[in-house]
Amino acid sequence: MRSYDDSYRHKGLRKQLMDTLRDKGISDEKILGVMNDIPRHYFLDSAFDKVAYEDKAFPITEGQTISQPYTVAYQTQLLQVRQFDKILEIGTGSGYQAMVLAGMGAQVFTIERQKKLFDEHRTFILRAKYPSIKYFYGDGFEGLPSYAPFDKVLITAAAPFIPPKLIQQMKIGAKMVIPVGEGNVQRMLRLTVLPDGSVSEEMFDNFSFVPMVSGRNG
Ligand code: SAH
Repeated sequence: MRSYDDSYRHKGLRKQLMDTLRDKGISDEKILGVMNDIPRHYFLDSAFDKVAYEDKAFPITEGQTISQPYTVAYQTQLLQVRQFDKILEIGTGSGYQAMVLAGMGAQVFTIERQKKLFDEHRTFILRAKYPSIKYFYGDGFEGLPSYAPFDKVLITAAAPFIPPKLIQQMKIGAKMVIPVGEGNVQRMLRLTVLPDGSVSEEMFDNFSFVPMVSGRNG
């Protein structure tokens, strides 16, 4: 069960969470403004109401997780989102990250491989507020060739390697933010497609995501 009451208490806790993210080094005020406007507790079972604004990942359907707010802010900041960017997200999960990207003014194409999670989005209360998000049930390793090329690609599951088909779906100058690594820890990478078609790579901090798995489930 979920509860859709956004009380003063929730709003106050959300504001405190934004201060925590600032303290941890998130400096893009636009991102913090967008996150401050999205009731994160709507994405969680009401059993998590008291902790929804702690800077932690929490379980959602099918053993998956809603990413930690710091991770969402960090990935969004690395992606350098601009208004009207066409963004491909792999791993819709709760849909929270997709709505942060939409709140930044991007057009979002998000793929989820778990049918149950995908189906939950049909009736989710915040869906109508973000008409610029398109939801797909599929395998993120394949991307969305018929909607390519993209300005940005965001992977929100632990990738065992950089998916070659996703690189092919990026524009020149496009960026991909992707946590790469098997096991418990992944290194956050930012890739940029250069004018000659080659790809440059920057390395950032370590994170811990649920695995990116090939094929659909359900
Ligand atoms: N962005 C999400 C984070 C979800 S966790 C959020 O804001 O809540 C990662 C999600 O990636 C899980 O829901 C998992 O099912 C999904 N996933 C894993 N491998 C995938 C793949 N190959 N294609 C699409 N989704 C995938």
